[in-house]
This record gives sequence, C-alpha cells and structure tokens, in this order.
Amino acid sequence: MGLYDDFQNDQDVIDNAQGVLSGEGFKDFETIQEKMTPGQNGGPSPGYTFSIHCIGCANKNAISVSWGEIVDLAAGTVPVDPDSRRPWIYTAVPGGGGKTTPPIACGHCAKQIFLYMTPDQCHRYVRAGIQAGAISEAQVAQRIQQIRQHQAAYQQQRR
Ligand SMILES: [Zn+2]
Repeated sequence: MGLYDDFQNDQDVIDNAQGVLSGEGFKDFETIQEKMTPGQNGGPSPGYTFSIHCIGCANKNAISVSWGEIVDLAAGTVPVDPDSRRPWIYTAVPGGGGKTTPPIACGHCAKQIFLYMTPDQCHRYVRAGIQAGAISEAQVAQRIQQIRQHQAAYQQQRR
C-alpha cells in the first residue's frame, strides 16, 4: 500500500479539510472536456487541462490546472493560481461548504470562467497523475501534510 492509497482510505483527511469545499462540481459534464496536460518535450505532465465554454460569449477556453492546485482541491482547500499568485475564487453555498473556481477570465470576452471541481473528482485526477508518473505519492503526501499544518494553524488562530 502506497502513501496515497493510505490517504485514500483515511477519511480523516477529508473530515479535517474543514469542509470548505462541498460536493458541487461541473454543472454540465458534456460541455467540459478534461485531459491530462501533455508534458513538454516528453517530460511529465504538469496537471490537467479543461476545455470549457464561456457562459458570456460561448467561446471555448482551455484552462490548465496544476497538480498542486488539484491536490489542494482533493484535500478540500482553496488553491492559489501559481501563475497569477491569486487565490481561487471561493463562494459559500447555502447549507454549508462552498465551491471554488480558478481566478481566470475568458480569453475572448474577459468574463470570469466558472470551473468548479469536487474533491472527489480531484482525487481521481491525482490517482491518474500518480499512475502516469506525472507526480509521485511522496509529493502528494508532502503537500497534504503542508495543507494539514496550515489548517491546524488556522483553527488555532480562530480559537
Ligand atoms: Zn467569453
């Protein structure tokens, strides 16, 4: 059993995620296509790319999401876009929890793109990434450790 299998079976990780993300994901799976982003020059894949229609102008946008962001989402936390250094946009949903979308605008009309993903969905991407050799279980475990530490510090501050 590898580290990530361990994580999969450890319901604590999800419970400890403080529930900032609820189960709300893609609204319409047919209009969003997902694929692992090809690595450059045969190198490892840097994450996933989603092809999504803008709700403003209906043009297609290709949105890249890094492994770091995907692991954060899988752990139920709000990621930061590594390019812009801006956090994903978080919206609380009635009944508790919330959903988050990358801080990325449509390349055609500049309206916000809405790409909501569930933690479960991101677990699937992480597993696929490990299987493809794009990320290692050790990298995933290390990042989850960091997320847990941040969450613990945050909880401490709020007490
Ligand atoms: Zn648009």
